[in-house]
Amino acid sequence: NRGHIAHADAMTSNGAHGIASSEAVPKKKKVVLLGTGWAGMSFLKNLNNPSYEVEVLSPRNFFVFTPLLPSVTCGKVEARSIVEPIRNIIRKKNVDISFSEAECVKIDPQNKKIYCRATVNSKLKGEEEFAVDYDYLIIAVGAQVNTFNTPGVEQNCHFLKEVEDAQKIRKNVIESFEKASLPNLSDEEREKILHFVIVGGGPTGVEFAAELYDFVNEDVVKLYPKVREFVKITLLEATDHILNMFDKRITNFAEGKFGRDGIDVKLGSMVTKINDNEISTKARGNGNTTNTPYGMVLWSTGIGPRPLIKEFMKQIGQGNRRALATDEWLRVEGFDTIYALGDCATINQRKVMEDISEIFKKADKDESGTLTVKEFQEIIDDICERYPQVELYLKSKQVRNIVDLLKEAKGDAAKESIELNIEEFKSALSQVDSQMKNLPATAQVANQQGAYLANCFNRMEECEKNPEGPARFRGTGRHRFHPFRYRHLGQFAPLGGEQTAAQLPGDWVSIGHSSQWLWYSVYASKQVSWRTRALVVSDWVRRFIFGRDTSG
Ligand code: FAD
Ligand code: MG
Ligand code: MG
Ligand code: MG
Ligand code: MG
Repeated sequence: NRGHIAHADAMTSNGAHGIASSEAVPKKKKVVLLGTGWAGMSFLKNLNNPSYEVEVLSPRNFFVFTPLLPSVTCGKVEARSIVEPIRNIIRKKNVDISFSEAECVKIDPQNKKIYCRATVNSKLKGEEEFAVDYDYLIIAVGAQVNTFNTPGVEQNCHFLKEVEDAQKIRKNVIESFEKASLPNLSDEEREKILHFVIVGGGPTGVEFAAELYDFVNEDVVKLYPKVREFVKITLLEATDHILNMFDKRITNFAEGKFGRDGIDVKLGSMVTKINDNEISTKARGNGNTTNTPYGMVLWSTGIGPRPLIKEFMKQIGQGNRRALATDEWLRVEGFDTIYALGDCATINQRKVMEDISEIFKKADKDESGTLTVKEFQEIIDDICERYPQVELYLKSKQVRNIVDLLKEAKGDAAKESIELNIEEFKSALSQVDSQMKNLPATAQVANQQGAYLANCFNRMEECEKNPEGPARFRGTGRHRFHPFRYRHLGQFAPLGGEQTAAQLPGDWVSIGHSSQWLWYSVYASKQVSWRTRALVVSDWVRRFIFGRDTSG
């Protein structure tokens, strides 16, 4: 058993498992995982190295398939159908995994310890606070809604982040229609109650607007015909366009469709405060302030760090960042045994220019002070792996390979052989780092990072013996694995009326009913279990046949 050999050094004299025989069982290394969202779930699903003992801590004992949360808000899909109990996932594993329903409140990296608070019903008496030791800590706690400290948001707005949020929204939407249908109201009052405001024109806000519009159009017209005319949906976006992160064609289509549907999209509109009656906005152009009565507001303007992460960043000198910085191997900067992934973290990609002298020195094998093409070619693969921005830069410049780039830098002087000195080398690569950008905070990224990290743990012993990372830069032996690489598989924006915009790799854009079917099939296939897949698909079918359930 390789794991046991590799961990022989971890054997303890205190015989942790009470086995007294001379053939002591080596103590398993303990991995503590915080969070059961996309990143955490993906790590657990992909981990299969039995030489670890894993303890999972999260305030919720289930995983949520967040891309379908907007569908829950108006009853297209049931909340139950998009959650999977975490114990269902871990009981199927050959790895020793335990779960505690608790949230981490403090991390103590010096003593390799975390402090937790149980979140189970406090009426069930028990130890509420406890500490847990770890050998490896994996932080996957996600992020929280960012209110930008706008007054009144906490008190008066709905968020759409957790299952309970979606359930609350659904109840509130239905109750708005019931309330507006009461006999003793003026038209003005009905208008106010049925004014739905969405703040933030990102994917979540847009999808909710579309869901709400469909609900009104398909079900409300039949169930609440008298109040249909009072319904108004307003989408407020601070920048010039909704769905900024998508291709222009998608943005245009979405704005056009919403316009035709009568959804009032107000661009360049900043929310300044919200009281229990009115929402105040400032127009970006002329700075005019408008106060508008509303019935319900959904706030979805982006995410910020959780208190635990803010505190931890302060502790380790990462100050005022928006997310925990890790290296390309997902290790928190400066800590070899703490990993962070998903929405709570960002990868601090090394800049080529920071390392340029070192790269040059490593490439210049004969120490001649100049680089030949041959010397350079030997190190290209390692450079491209260590610094993915190089490939992006070549693509953006439409240069075939990096040698062409060097030739270009050398100009006419380069005919057959080129030799570059350090200054020429620097100037050839000086623009490369401009291609670096942070990965988006998406399930797709979190999911791939979880799988990547599990795979590192699966092969830990093997790679300790035979490192496989970019050879030239392995340096201190930290880089036993290939760095994390994100593969973008495309992105959907459901726009309502059975129409979806899809942006697939290679700038392939498709909008309409056909992409809606692609959306259905992709989201059915991405479900974490056959159980949720069956539930989600039957919810879709049910809605097609019977419409939405509006009891609430
Ligand atoms: P999360 O999935 O948020 O998980 C965090 C986990 O940590 C949770 O289990 C939480 O309970 C737990 N936790 C919190 N605090 C603590 C603590 N102190 N200690 C221990 N555990 C803690 N992405 C896409 O790619 N495609 C989409 O279509 C899409 N649609 C979305 C729709 C909505 C409505 C939302 C809200 C998000 C959507 N996303 C989508 C984004 C995606 O959900 C996130 O990027 C993803 O969930 C990030 O994964 P994570 O594991 O980092 O965080
Ligand atoms: Mg997680
Ligand atoms: Mg999640
Ligand atoms: Mg991230
Ligand atoms: Mg040389």
